[in-house]
Amino acid sequence: MTVKEREPCIHDRPADEPYAGERDVAGLRARYRQLYIAVEQSPVATAITDIDGRIEFVNQRFLDVTGYAREELLGRTPAVIQSGQTPDAVYRDLWETLREGRVWQGELLNRRKNGELYWESEVITPIRDARGDIVNFVAVKEDITERKRQENELRLLAMAFETGQATLITDAEMRIEKVNQAFTDITGYREAEVIGRTPRIFKSGRHDAGFYAALWDALLATGHWQGEIWNRNKHGDIYPLWQSITAVRGDDGEIRNFVAVFHNIAERKRMERELEHQATRDHLTGTHNRRAFDAAMRQAIRRAEAGHEPFSLLIFDIDHFKAVNDHHGHDTGDAILKRLAERVEDSLRSTDMLARWGGEEFTILLSDTSLAGAASFAERLRRQVAESRFEGLAITVSLGIAGYRPGDDLDAVLARADEALYRAKADGRNLVRLSRGVGCHAS
Ligand code: GH3
Ligand code: MG
Ligand code: MG
Repeated sequence: MTVKEREPCIHDRPADEPYAGERDVAGLRARYRQLYIAVEQSPVATAITDIDGRIEFVNQRFLDVTGYAREELLGRTPAVIQSGQTPDAVYRDLWETLREGRVWQGELLNRRKNGELYWESEVITPIRDARGDIVNFVAVKEDITERKRQENELRLLAMAFETGQATLITDAEMRIEKVNQAFTDITGYREAEVIGRTPRIFKSGRHDAGFYAALWDALLATGHWQGEIWNRNKHGDIYPLWQSITAVRGDDGEIRNFVAVFHNIAERKRMERELEHQATRDHLTGTHNRRAFDAAMRQAIRRAEAGHEPFSLLIFDIDHFKAVNDHHGHDTGDAILKRLAERVEDSLRSTDMLARWGGEEFTILLSDTSLAGAASFAERLRRQVAESRFEGLAITVSLGIAGYRPGDDLDAVLARADEALYRAKADGRNLVRLSRGVGCHAS
């Protein structure tokens, strides 16, 4: 193969012109041997082919890398080690470059004798004779499989970092080194605005020094902390995060970095509150529902059993409410129920609980309240309702009260209050009645 135009290269000295001092055969031999050993023992895999690509020489490193014996390669072409996975275009470019007499440099995915794939970075140089004709190609290769693997891993990690949960990385002194897109989405801060600063800029003022001290204690003792934390974003809004912080230590055990991963839980908390509300509240009046009341009653019973002040239970029912509906319509009836619930709620202490027991019947748990105390509260409530107007209408309620007695369960207290209410109705309505029985004076 003759090449018309080419760049000058180190091989330009005619091959048959010996160096000074090598004119004698013995000297040439010694020089040849020296070069041979150098190439043979070179840590760089080297192959020499003829112009058709048939292998004439491979060094030891080449054999080590490919897993082939020398006899298996000599006289054959490097197709032996081709994986079939390098794009054809790469080989086209390779041969085009070499035929033009230029050096080719590139990366090839090859296959070892044992079937394993490996990446090689390869430089193939055309060698010329005295007349300038290409007579050989010399290929030197470096196994870059590990580098490729690391590059790929880094690429994947970078991608995971960029597309993953909001993440913040600081150095050991808590200076921010790196943040990702999700971080910017949540906090409003772009990377350039926070690099070199500390996460103190996110403090909301919602946590006391004890909170941060406990966080640091856990982080330094166990290398990890996670929990709910309120931060302030760039626009000044305060929002709750679920944050997980990990201390990253070097081989010497010293902390090198802190990595914080977090997500905004404002929406989740709102939904939890909403669900909690739906599960425990009555739809029409917004007061507690029967389920929530049951739970509160059970707790009150446990407290009473544990020796706390006993509680009282009050049940009231609107008098002749059916007639109100019949005369003024169901919507007016509903509105009255809402207004009444609001009015009663306003007259309660924060430790008391109002619930819609069903229909136009309500219960009130009066904590730490004796039967006598409950009776005076009930009487006040009765009078207040009777003297008020709801949707412009006068209504009255009848009330029954029961006080906790040792040994009571939920049903026992309820049954006594219900029985008292029944008597209030029977005795003419717009009345308060107390449960009968031991230690209790019914009116
Ligand atoms: P009393 O209690 O004095 O014996 O007479 P009452 O007419 O109130 O009788 P009762 O308690 O048995 O009837 C309940 C009535 O309350 C039936 C229904 O018309 C009305 N009611 C129950 N729940 C609702 C409600 O959610 N909305 C409206 N508008 N009315 C209701
Ligand atoms: Mg009624
Ligand atoms: Mg009723």
